[in-house]
Amino acid sequence: MADLTRTSDITSTIAATGSPAPIATLAIAPAQVIRGQGLFSTAAAAITQLGQRPLVVAGSQTWAIGQESIEAMAIQQGLNLSHASYGGECSEANLARLRAVIADHRADLVIGIGGGKALDAAKLVAHQTGLPVVTVPTSAATCAAWTALSNVYSDQGAFLYDVALTTCPQLLLLDYALVQTAPSHTLVAGIGDAIAKWYEASVSSGHSDQTLIIAAVQQARVLRDLLLQKSAHALQAPGSSVWREVVDATVLMAGVIGGLGGAQCRTVAAHAVHNGLTHLLQSHGTLHGDKVAYGILVQLRLEELVQGNLLAATARQQLLKFYREIGLPQCLADLGLMDVTLADLARSAEVACHPGSDIHHLPFEVNPTHLLAAMVSTTAPCAEVRALPRESYRADLSTDPTPL
Ligand SMILES: [Zn+2]
Repeated sequence: MADLTRTSDITSTIAATGSPAPIATLAIAPAQVIRGQGLFSTAAAAITQLGQRPLVVAGSQTWAIGQESIEAMAIQQGLNLSHASYGGECSEANLARLRAVIADHRADLVIGIGGGKALDAAKLVAHQTGLPVVTVPTSAATCAAWTALSNVYSDQGAFLYDVALTTCPQLLLLDYALVQTAPSHTLVAGIGDAIAKWYEASVSSGHSDQTLIIAAVQQARVLRDLLLQKSAHALQAPGSSVWREVVDATVLMAGVIGGLGGAQCRTVAAHAVHNGLTHLLQSHGTLHGDKVAYGILVQLRLEELVQGNLLAATARQQLLKFYREIGLPQCLADLGLMDVTLADLARSAEVACHPGSDIHHLPFEVNPTHLLAAMVSTTAPCAEVRALPRESYRADLSTDPTPL
């Protein structure tokens, strides 16, 4: 047998098998996940192992709910705990302020408690300061508690860019009792964000030959099926076992798919549409998952309009029925955007189509005109499916500003 420790043999082996594998750091999952109820006391030892001077990053409402139990845990464990608000947006200004609080407190651990934006801020400020982070989701609206990714927004809430983190959180505490205190629509939005994994991953990575990406795409399909089957039942019975399964699907399994797929299992048009909509002030009253869910319909509609894709038309009809059942938005009016002008909508389409946007992971070219046509026709009946010439929408859409 050849001695492969010799350089010449390694070189010849590479020559025979192609280029060496690129070096990649995988951030698939949190080091530890603890699920249950009343977790701050249960998880006290695990938290204490990570640090003695934690800074809790949470909004004021969340802090009001969690303060008593987390402070009791800190006293019992002898931790020197401090608290700072994340400021409402995971923005560069709020991150700079949090870094100063961390330095002031000489924090050695960040504990993020809240929804997606609070957790994104906690994860990113921990990443920037080299500290471990514990995430505690207070709603099932996103998988931010799991993923090695933070979205950065302007102070006004417009999406700017995302940051890939080197690791997932060191500890994720999924406290079902805490999640159940959130408005029930947060779970609906979480279902919208989670089900998008299939529609986006299958388009961006459905033909991959890489083991982990194949796994991610298949898990996304399983996740879609679980959500289609269980969501309505779960929403009718908060706190039940089926409700917990759906919470696990949106908070944990969606995170597994993001972790397995990594940067190459990309979001596509659904999230690009979300990102574009965040640039409209009128969209700030709706949750991330609501906008993403609407974005899935836009993506499918694009596949219908540009490619004449009948499967996309069928999938859209299936989703419209599902959305009606559980209360996800089917059109701009459902997102509270009934009075938005065509000029504003065109601006959000421009943002969604800027160079480098994930919308360009679609297997065909998309421009803002295509996108506008899809955005205003998400509830069109199946019969209208036809592949139209790419410039054929322009005449209808050039009469701005017109309320929709
Ligand atoms: Zn999302």
